Amino acid sequence: MDTSARGVSIHIRGLVQGVGFRPFVYNLASRLALQGWVLNSASGVNIEVDGPAATLEEFIASLHSQAPPLARIDGFEMAWQPPRRFAGFEIRRSQAGEPDIQPVLPDVSICSDCLAELNDPDDRRYRYPFINCTNCGPRYTIIQGIPYDRRLTTMERFQMCPQCAAEYADPSDRRFHAQPVACPDCGPRVWLCAGEERIEGEEALQGTRSRLMQGQIIGIRGLGGFHLACDATDSAAVRRLRQRKHRPHKPLAVMMPDLETVKRHCLVSEAEFGLLTSRARPIVILGRRPDSDLALELAPGQNTIGVMLPYTPLHVLIMQPAPGFPEALVMTSGNRSEEPLIVDDEEAFDRLRGIADAFLLHDREIQHRCDDSVTRVLPLEAGRAPACFIRRSRGYAPDPVRLPWDLPGILAVGGELKNTYCLTRGPYAFISQHIGDLKNNETLEVFEAGIRGFEELLRVRPAFIAFDLHPDYLSTQYALHRATEESLPAIGIQHHHAHIAACMADNCVAAGESVIGVVFDGTGYGTDGTIWGGEFLLCDYRQFERLAFLAPFRLPGGDSAVAHPWRTALSLMAAAGLPASDAYATFSGLAVEEIATVQRQLECGINAPLTSSIGRLFDGVAALVTGRQHITYEAQAAIEFEALADPDETETYPMDLAGERLEWRSLLHALNVDLRAGLTPNVISARFHNGVSSAILRTCLHLQRHTSAGAVALSGGVWQNHTLLRKTVAALESAGFKILLHRQVPANDGGLSLGQAVAAYHIAGN
Ligand code: ZN
Ligand code: ZN
Ligand code: FE
Repeated sequence: MDTSARGVSIHIRGLVQGVGFRPFVYNLASRLALQGWVLNSASGVNIEVDGPAATLEEFIASLHSQAPPLARIDGFEMAWQPPRRFAGFEIRRSQAGEPDIQPVLPDVSICSDCLAELNDPDDRRYRYPFINCTNCGPRYTIIQGIPYDRRLTTMERFQMCPQCAAEYADPSDRRFHAQPVACPDCGPRVWLCAGEERIEGEEALQGTRSRLMQGQIIGIRGLGGFHLACDATDSAAVRRLRQRKHRPHKPLAVMMPDLETVKRHCLVSEAEFGLLTSRARPIVILGRRPDSDLALELAPGQNTIGVMLPYTPLHVLIMQPAPGFPEALVMTSGNRSEEPLIVDDEEAFDRLRGIADAFLLHDREIQHRCDDSVTRVLPLEAGRAPACFIRRSRGYAPDPVRLPWDLPGILAVGGELKNTYCLTRGPYAFISQHIGDLKNNETLEVFEAGIRGFEELLRVRPAFIAFDLHPDYLSTQYALHRATEESLPAIGIQHHHAHIAACMADNCVAAGESVIGVVFDGTGYGTDGTIWGGEFLLCDYRQFERLAFLAPFRLPGGDSAVAHPWRTALSLMAAAGLPASDAYATFSGLAVEEIATVQRQLECGINAPLTSSIGRLFDGVAALVTGRQHITYEAQAAIEFEALADPDETETYPMDLAGERLEWRSLLHALNVDLRAGLTPNVISARFHNGVSSAILRTCLHLQRHTSAGAVALSGGVWQNHTLLRKTVAALESAGFKILLHRQVPANDGGLSLGQAVAAYHIAGN
């Protein structure tokens, strides 16, 4: 064994700040009787250490094998040195230093140690709503700058009491250098506001619970923003919330106290258990048990429900099971329809006054607003159950997606709906939390301020900007404006190319490889100025070729056809040469003038843009079969139509490739015959989904013969239709195709910014 004295300098990159890495290094070095120091730098953790050579080897091996649970080492550099004769081992003050990249940890749900203390009457933090430690608690939502230190978080204003300060300074304590450490003596507090009444602490918690039991709606300031909460088993309360929030149908997520309760109301697989209890505690879309007594108004027309477990101590205290207290609470984003999530009290009073009966507030400021993430497990054959994102936000953002390249600073601004933006640097693509639909000034402000803050926090100065080709998107206008102001190159990426590039990067596809991209989407601006959305692209990161697409049809009234899918239904019927009277049999109460307008638009092609969007085909067909004439949330008709599909039906409708066009008219003819014959919507829905998935298979088989593409990538919002996805994956796999599905970012427009960034990187000549 080599006992000669040596020294070593170590630099570690990755998720190593705010995860207890320094105390871990300190304790390890002390145990091994090594001398030196450790500190947080702007780019990770630096260690200088002296000792016998063999012991140093052991130290280095243990840095990898015993790292704390939340840590992730992405880069490890070391250099041997002559011994420097340090005295003891210490944790030194953080160094700001040269700007560099440093991943920022997402927020972490309450850990089991803290949970035990929360419930222990002898603990000094018994029932304290802000209990946390190095292994849990807020991170991204409170961070104002890096390095991650209390003075650069919204906890800075709370002066630690002597006891907290002692824990914070004690390397053997679980709260050693836990930046948000707090207790009832020195930390944030809760209070309940109802009109003129204001009560604090434990009384506020009890007051909130009793109001919830009475069916009231409470605005609760949480981790990343406000929630609106009410009893999820009380139909009247849920209806009241829907009315006040102007949200008649869109599903509402619920929070349940524990897994046993979730199991009583929902069907839960092992993979779903895993997601529900993961550190991020996302909303998981679960199958609803028919015997559940949750209000049917939570998700009208659907057989699923979005469920999450309590993720902060405050939620644990509010949700505590007790006789008469609801088994589930609605916990929906605290905002008015279409507006960003609310994060501060004044805003809440102003905007939620007419919705909430009372407010449960606290004084820990929210630096970065973060909506709850939404996930779903996709049950595939052969026991595979991949989890996918519908919304990637709280608990995940801003954890980066790792890429196999060394990228410069690129800003990708995303699309319009479900906007996220993305900054790259080095091997990282940092994707923002969910920003929302960029359709109004409030959201635009959040978007603009968010980008600046993200650039500062991650220390990325963009070298160029990537954006969507749609000239009307506010994100596009922002990108072009900024590019001019700062003389930066700007690269436009076609919407569906970005979708497939995102899916490729999500699966670490190598540069230069090409895939067949099946983009099934709602809306995307095509290179010919029409609206695309049912595309088969031969793609690599740099370029794409449009090999096939859904035969275009007209959208009478443009965007108005999206909100009123009966218009699309009439257009489809007319284009297929079917009698309009067949459609009127489904729709009741349509005004004669409205019908006349649509017919005029179709005949003259005025205000009736052409589209190849499969999302719109689904809308129109769904409206025709279910009679859903108007929708109040995106893709509502198609989602309700999918929920009807009979899982045992095997027959299918014909849909074939004619040249480069995927011909849906034959499908509509067959469907119309069944509809007239009085077949149930359940059978028709199944046959429709079967028809579309087998058409995808035949198209891919045909295209494969003419290309060298290795795999089929599925992207676009329509792939959130799990009936279609399951059938298509089964069909493609049995034909031997390798399939790329989204895993780290959503298939919908929430993943667009990642695709824009990687496509722009390769187009720029890399
Ligand atoms: Zn903890
Ligand atoms: Zn304290
Ligand atoms: Fe899209």
